Amino acid sequence: MRAFLVLTAILLLATSALDTVGQSTGPSLIDIEKVRLGLEYIKATEPETITEQIRITEIPAPPFKEARRAEYFRKKFQELGLKNVRMDEVGNVIGERPGTGGSAAPTMVLAAHLDTVFDDEVVKVTREGNLIKGLGIGDDGRGLTLLITMVRTLNELKIDTVGNLIVVANVGEEGLGDLRGTRHLFAKELKGKVTHFISIDGTGLGITNGAVGSYRYRVTFKGPGGHSYGAFGMPNPIHALGRAIEKISKFQVPTDPKTTFNVGRIEGGTSVNSIAHTASFEIDMRSVSKAELEKMDASFKKAVQVSLNEENGRWTSPRKITVDMSQVGSRPTGEQKADALIVRAALEADKALGIKSELDAGSTDSNIPISLGIPAITIDGGGLGRGAHSPDESWDATDSHLGSQRAFLAILGILGVDSRSPK
Ligand SMILES: [Zn+2]
Repeated sequence: MRAFLVLTAILLLATSALDTVGQSTGPSLIDIEKVRLGLEYIKATEPETITEQIRITEIPAPPFKEARRAEYFRKKFQELGLKNVRMDEVGNVIGERPGTGGSAAPTMVLAAHLDTVFDDEVVKVTREGNLIKGLGIGDDGRGLTLLITMVRTLNELKIDTVGNLIVVANVGEEGLGDLRGTRHLFAKELKGKVTHFISIDGTGLGITNGAVGSYRYRVTFKGPGGHSYGAFGMPNPIHALGRAIEKISKFQVPTDPKTTFNVGRIEGGTSVNSIAHTASFEIDMRSVSKAELEKMDASFKKAVQVSLNEENGRWTSPRKITVDMSQVGSRPTGEQKADALIVRAALEADKALGIKSELDAGSTDSNIPISLGIPAITIDGGGLGRGAHSPDESWDATDSHLGSQRAFLAILGILGVDSRSPK
């Protein structure tokens, strides 16, 4: 019976998702009264959601220092009545809202990331009408807040889902965090338990259903160094670095599958009249295609090696420089069908709300489940964000409730509503 209910919820959704080619049959999610009321509740309480978003954004969460914000979420999850609220060993905060379908029903993780890209220990948010400014207000202050709004709405409307919901405020999405929070969830904390994954990350109304893989390295050339005049004639780490970047800058990559490269940081040297001891750079390479990423990875390693040899070969000095390439990031790619049920759940939600669907590929927490073959999407949280990852980050709250409502419908599209939920 329970399995049947889950299946019904999913099949109804699947059927209406096929509308683009056929006729819609059967009731859709928004024909369920509680779901409709839930949508109204979300819209009516959007101002509260925004106030919460500002509060959360003002709790600093620099990379690898998410603990304060995490603690806030641990308390919130407890207040919301989530079960088994805990912080795992890497700092993810987890709370559960079991469904009525038991372990045979889908188990979905709803996640948003705690970390920001900023080192600031104090974050001040300012607001003028719908325009709100502050570091991380959209990315991912918005997604984090919606975790709370979703659970609050389910509770308020006394909606029993058939599938099990696991809510996670996770660490380590950004930059060198390298998805460590989500990695840990799937490798250990929730290993083997999760059937679906939705991350709410960023602003707008897009849906990320493809996983852009990336490799990141820090490359360091090292040498004896010396006086620019007195020690002249020895290989120079900065010159070797220049050679490497020059080669990288000439890489040819396909636009489809989209493949990109960027040297994002360089460092080295001590003074204008010294041959440097060290010089280093950081590179980020991305592609939705694993094969293209591997190809570029090989070209990159070759470019560095050749540059080293050229610089060492340039001088007759017996003193040589060396190079170290350390991988500082690796985000896996994976294939997910465009008509996967989890994608259709989001498309169906868009349709119900009159949102024009935009599908895209990205590098998000969903990369981990997608690479493991677990259906996953990352959805935007609504509103209009500008300047994410910059000190001028702002977020326009106009019609932001649409993002909250879309998340709500997408979640229920996977979990299903138990028709026996109390009135
Ligand atoms: Zn983000």
